[in-house]
Amino acid sequence: MGIVVQKYGGSSVADPDAIKRVARRIVEAKKDGHDVVVAVSAMGDTTDELLDKARAVSPLPPARELDMLLTAGERISMALVAMAISDLGFSARSFTGSQAGVITDSVHGKAKIIDVTPGRIQEAIADGHIVIVAGFQGVSQDTKEITTLGRGGTDTTAVALAAALDADVCEIYTDVDGVFTADPRIVPAARKLDTVTYEEMLELAACGSKILHLRCVEYARRYDIPIHVRSSFSQLEGTIVRGSIEDIPAQEGSSMEQAIIAGVAHDVSEAKITVVGVPDKVGEAARIFTALAEAQINLDMIVQNVSAAATNLTDISFTLPRTDGQTAMTALAALQATIGFESLLYDDKIGKVSLIGAGMRSHPGVTAKFFSSIAEAGVNLGMISTSEIRISVIVDEADVAAAVQATHTAFDLDATEVEAVVYGGTGR
Ligand code: ASP
Ligand code: MG
Repeated sequence: MGIVVQKYGGSSVADPDAIKRVARRIVEAKKDGHDVVVAVSAMGDTTDELLDKARAVSPLPPARELDMLLTAGERISMALVAMAISDLGFSARSFTGSQAGVITDSVHGKAKIIDVTPGRIQEAIADGHIVIVAGFQGVSQDTKEITTLGRGGTDTTAVALAAALDADVCEIYTDVDGVFTADPRIVPAARKLDTVTYEEMLELAACGSKILHLRCVEYARRYDIPIHVRSSFSQLEGTIVRGSIEDIPAQEGSSMEQAIIAGVAHDVSEAKITVVGVPDKVGEAARIFTALAEAQINLDMIVQNVSAAATNLTDISFTLPRTDGQTAMTALAALQATIGFESLLYDDKIGKVSLIGAGMRSHPGVTAKFFSSIAEAGVNLGMISTSEIRISVIVDEADVAAAVQATHTAFDLDATEVEAVVYGGTGR
């Protein structure tokens, strides 16, 4: 039998009992005849606690040192998991990201994996060991410094290892039973998906579903690695992420009621900036967005209104991560004199609600039904954006739950029996 890569998240290794339970589960896979490689996250809220410690000694810690600190979290769990396995009579070897051959670019705090050279892992497997790798970290090819992959990055470590080792499957063990049609904390009747395509999962992850790291899904799609998202607290089958929407003929989608909508995602981590009274002439938008690009800000939705005939002035609004709000406002304020816009508005009491499903390509009326359900819930729409398989709207943050629930019900996604159980985690 082939190699299985497993990933255990922070809540699955939160304390010694959890670590022993995970060790038993890993050993099961080994007993089934697989070679097992495991990526582990830091225990429970360790990463947040390390960040708190860093801020307690320095308000703006140097990025290199912050990465050194944060990678310690995963090193603690990798060693403890290996010890717990050896206590069960099996041999395990733990490796840091760097030892495991996870090579990244040199951007501290959000490094990208550029290569995996798993020589030491392969040797350890050949010697009969179970391999445990510290997640969320690597070593920069250029600077040789230790890097981290961004919050939630252990998912990406796992998929990258699965690709490099040509594993049969990458199992992501978490504290819920799989990917749900909505966040069960908002929609108790959310349903577990049996399967979902890479593209739908990418949209879900990009639109606020926290179940998988976005980069991990991109990686899985590129290398065609199936991901099995499941709970480490139950034996239930989870959700398999695999296949492309390109492989679902549009016609077939229309006869399969199930396949129309994959789910409703929401995101309350964005803010909206409006540049008020921009002179309607060539090049002003380019100037605004160049300044934001130079400040390294990733934008999401952008809307420009038609200019008022009397004034020839227009408003440009866009959304961005709240964490970049201050930087963006400062960068734009510096342009006010040059461009001559009237003012800047900042609103971080917004939320994004997105409907995602491959079937909407071949189903007329999905947009109408989405907007009607939100209207019936008495929620006002701000901005709107779409992709081939997604419609997103911006609403008031206070209305997000109502809009998600109304949409979920309108598209017949509600389960008749409650399926969603959240087993662990503090939600931090
Ligand atoms: N420990 C890191 C975090 O909390 C990485 C991970 O959990 O995947 O973000
Ligand atoms: Mg974590």
